[in-house]
Amino acid sequence: MNKNDELKIIEDMQAVVEQMKLDDIEENPDSEFDMFDCQCCGEEKPLAGSVVYDGIRICNDCVLFAETGFALGKIKNIQELMATMEDRKLEAQCQFIKQDEIEHSN
Ligand SMILES: [Zn+2]
Repeated sequence: MNKNDELKIIEDMQAVVEQMKLDDIEENPDSEFDMFDCQCCGEEKPLAGSVVYDGIRICNDCVLFAETGFALGKIKNIQELMATMEDRKLEAQCQFIKQDEIEHSN
C-alpha cells in the first residue's frame, strides 16, 4: 500500500467516524455533553461518537485510531490499540518527568 492509498483511507475514516458522532448527537443531543472516562486514552470524553469494542467503550478520537488501524492492518483488535496508547501515555509521562528534572536542576 502506498502513502496516497493510506492517506485516502485515513480521510475516509475521518469522515465515517465524524458521521458516527453526528448521528449520535442527532439521536440523543445530550450525548454531546455526557462525559465518560475513555478506557483507551484515559481522558474524559463525550459519549457522542464513542463505540464499544469487546466490551470496552472508547471515545470518538480513539475510534478513529482504531478504525484507521484496522483498515491499514496495523492493529488486529482493540487490545493492541490500547497497548499502543499505553506506550504513548508513558512517553508523555516520561517527557513530563524529564521536563521536571530540567526545571529542578537549575
Ligand atoms: Zn479515547
